[in-house]
Amino acid sequence: MPAPPCASCHASRAALRRPRSGQALCGACFCAAFEAEVLHTVLAGRLLPPGAVVAVGASGGKDSTVLAHVLRALTPRLGISLQLVAVDEGIGGYRDAALAAVRRQAARWELPLTVVAYEDLFGGWTMDAVARSTAGSGRSRSCCTFCGVLRRRALEEGARRVGATHIVTGHNADDMAETVLMNFLRGDAGRLARGGGLGSPGEGGALPRCRPLQFASQKEVVLYAHFRRLDYFSEECVYAPEAFRGHARDLLKRLEAARPSAVLDLVHSAERLALAPAARPPRPGACSRCGALASRALCQACALLDGLNRGRPRLAIGKGRRGLDEEATPGTPGDPARPPASKAVPTF
Ligand code: SF4
Repeated sequence: MPAPPCASCHASRAALRRPRSGQALCGACFCAAFEAEVLHTVLAGRLLPPGAVVAVGASGGKDSTVLAHVLRALTPRLGISLQLVAVDEGIGGYRDAALAAVRRQAARWELPLTVVAYEDLFGGWTMDAVARSTAGSGRSRSCCTFCGVLRRRALEEGARRVGATHIVTGHNADDMAETVLMNFLRGDAGRLARGGGLGSPGEGGALPRCRPLQFASQKEVVLYAHFRRLDYFSEECVYAPEAFRGHARDLLKRLEAARPSAVLDLVHSAERLALAPAARPPRPGACSRCGALASRALCQACALLDGLNRGRPRLAIGKGRRGLDEEATPGTPGDPARPPASKAVPTF
């Protein structure tokens, strides 16, 4: 059966049905609609003011690749400038190839690229070294907990080095819904309270962060990358199979099969969540070591490094620091604790 005409231009044959709306569009109209929706997210949320120097957390994966491509297309409308900032976690056999993809993107799009490495920033610790250390303590499943905290710090440092005023990351709607589920499953009221909205305004001297793809589904991110013929890296990190996020992802897939709006419903639920006063986390102060925002004497990054340096990594992730159980969110800047999304796209 021939494909129907595109519901937007009526001139071309439709090449896909939008996963959530069912609208049949040609590739060009889909990409234009996707970009317009990201523009709306940025403008309606007042995320990136004109003149902003925006550090894009670039991992080489599909989400940050799509984010950089869309923002580059929107740069004249938004009046912003872009810098790619990539984090090298020191994961042998994985990150080198992903960084090669980021370098190709920077060269093709003529965007400045800065790479910051855990090894340089964190006293010689790489993720491979962290994994060896945590495996020795029976906590090898915590790799993503360490990595998520350190990568956030590394991206902040990289963004400051390039004079950025704002940070953007490529979290999509599926990533956000998984995070909401994980926080519920862990009973982490503090993170649930902070999980809503489109990002953080930059408390305690941190740079403002936002997620312009927060309402874009993973399927549409893959479709956009396909129709724009974007070159991205889609291998899975060697530590991803251990991550708790995988359980939340499996659960979300089942929920979405029963209720297609489950992903966006979860994202919007987190936005509207209001905690009872007694459940609200205390106002954060400053880390006694580095001055970053901290809810205890040491911030998460300093506490993790402290435990590693003392040969007792469990110190920072045991029950005494439940709040440290943070896992990186797939896609940015660093990369997913997710299996690589299929590059296969649904077409007629
Ligand atoms: Fe870091 Fe992501 Fe690998 Fe986990 S899966 S160790 S967060 S790069």
